[in-house]
Amino acid sequence: MKLAIVGSSKMKYQQCVGELQKIINEEKPDMIVSGGAEGVDSHAVLVAKLNEIKTNVFQPKTKDWEGYKDRNLEIIKECDRLYNIVIKSQTDDQYCYHHNTKQHERSGGCWTEIKAREQGKIVKTIEVL
Ligand SMILES: [Zn+2]
Repeated sequence: MKLAIVGSSKMKYQQCVGELQKIINEEKPDMIVSGGAEGVDSHAVLVAKLNEIKTNVFQPKTKDWEGYKDRNLEIIKECDRLYNIVIKSQTDDQYCYHHNTKQHERSGGCWTEIKAREQGKIVKTIEVL
């Protein structure tokens, strides 16, 4: 099973390493697919390597929304399941318009998650502090 892990680029390693290990223990993926950005993308690849799981990293061809969008769609195409790890809101002014919620900070991973769901992939949102 190929598991995509995406999420907030602002995520610190210590914030998500516990969740990443839990996901890997539960899903036992053959491969981790991600986007090569800072934050969750990079942390997921590091934890995959520590667990000796193969990785497939899709870098954007251009650093603009078209480039990111194409990269995100490649990730979706490549994976069987997708986890989106986001930062739980600590203030009242956060709003994720992809999920229509104030419970977590919006991230590019949210867009990817919604698109993946539309395409029939199994997806999961994980909110961490
Ligand atoms: Zn969201």
